[in-house]
Amino acid sequence: MHIVDLITKKRDGKALSKEEIEFIIKGYTKGQIPDYQISALLMAIYFQNMNDEESTYLALAMRDSGDSIDLSEIPGIKVDKHSTGGVGDKVTLVLGPLLASLGAKFAKMSGRGLGHTGGTIDKLESIPGYQVVLDVNDFIKQVKDIGIAIVGQSGDVAPADKKLYALRDVTATVDCIPLIAGSIMSKKLASGADAIVLDVKVGHGAFMKTEEEAVKLAQLMVGIGKLAGKKVTAILTGMDEPLGHKIGNALEVYEAIETLNGEGPKDLVDVTVEIGAHLLLDAQIETDFEVAKIKLQEALQNGTAYKKFLELVEAQGGDVSSLDDPSLLLSKKTVEVLSEKEGFIMDIDALDIGKAAMRLGAGREIKEDKVDLDVGLDLHKKIGSHVKKGESIATLYVRQKGIEEARQLILNAITIGEEEKKIVLIKQTIK
Ligand code: URA
Repeated sequence: MHIVDLITKKRDGKALSKEEIEFIIKGYTKGQIPDYQISALLMAIYFQNMNDEESTYLALAMRDSGDSIDLSEIPGIKVDKHSTGGVGDKVTLVLGPLLASLGAKFAKMSGRGLGHTGGTIDKLESIPGYQVVLDVNDFIKQVKDIGIAIVGQSGDVAPADKKLYALRDVTATVDCIPLIAGSIMSKKLASGADAIVLDVKVGHGAFMKTEEEAVKLAQLMVGIGKLAGKKVTAILTGMDEPLGHKIGNALEVYEAIETLNGEGPKDLVDVTVEIGAHLLLDAQIETDFEVAKIKLQEALQNGTAYKKFLELVEAQGGDVSSLDDPSLLLSKKTVEVLSEKEGFIMDIDALDIGKAAMRLGAGREIKEDKVDLDVGLDLHKKIGSHVKKGESIATLYVRQKGIEEARQLILNAITIGEEEKKIVLIKQTIK
């Protein structure tokens, strides 16, 4: 087989076979096929697409490019979730302890943020001492002992995705359905959970801008998961505005703590409870979806979910006393963004809000960038809120950089009008 022939085949719109896809993934992972040829192939895939069979072969070949984590030592059904990426998405920080407090086994490998989307691992690192790297045996032992571990992706899990994602990021080939499905499902399948809920974000701040595209991605990923013997559910949730109010690493930990103490914003609670209810049923802990939702709400209200979060932080070396007053984790320097108009908030471009947080230093433009964990923004208004001229729309938590740019991005991101608009957050469930 010759890589040039395979690039030509895809460029001309033909389907690649299982063997050809395996040849490409193996060759690239081992460094036998150079970046420039894979770049050309990625662009060909971007324009010519892949059919469902090719996409499945791609995900499985990427899964098999490295180790698969064997969680069978942990008794019971192991659960996991994945978001396709959004702004202010701190669901994992709330959902993991919440599920573990109700007896589920939550074994989660998470990623770092890139571009306007945040990453759970950066957020957890804003807790002093929290160790995101655990040896696989310690990871398994912790899930056995306390029902939860949240760590960074081990270097040996789906190494093909690491190389491909970095290349996609610099060749404008990230937002391509078969490539996203391959990237996500290879990692999920290799991470060892039995039941997975995929939170497919749709809207300005997401990779999938329309519901139609999001459905395609969701159906493809659910199909790949089933073929690999996993229980996979996808829910489509809105990313037309950021999730919750706080965006930035320590800020999102702060909002997760509020939520785990029963004081979370409605949209964050709703998405968390929806995903949680699916996973409680999958884990055979509950049999009725509505009852599962009530149990989840109760655990947020009665302190059991927060107690589990503290156990998680302690088990991974974090300083629990630093969470007594999480506002101490935030930058002391703040700037208010004042509204220039009066009216109802009609639209909030989540992508621009994510960029504003990034410009303040909360995110990375390129993989090597250092993140400031204590900066970001607290958005006081959501779609449908009323705002007066001169009222604060957002508080920026800042160091030196990006303040004026962030202010402008936020003002431009927000459309103020006459109508009190309502948006639908949970759009569809695909099984
Ligand atoms: N998240 C991933 O893990 N991979 C993608 O390609 C996009 C979102």
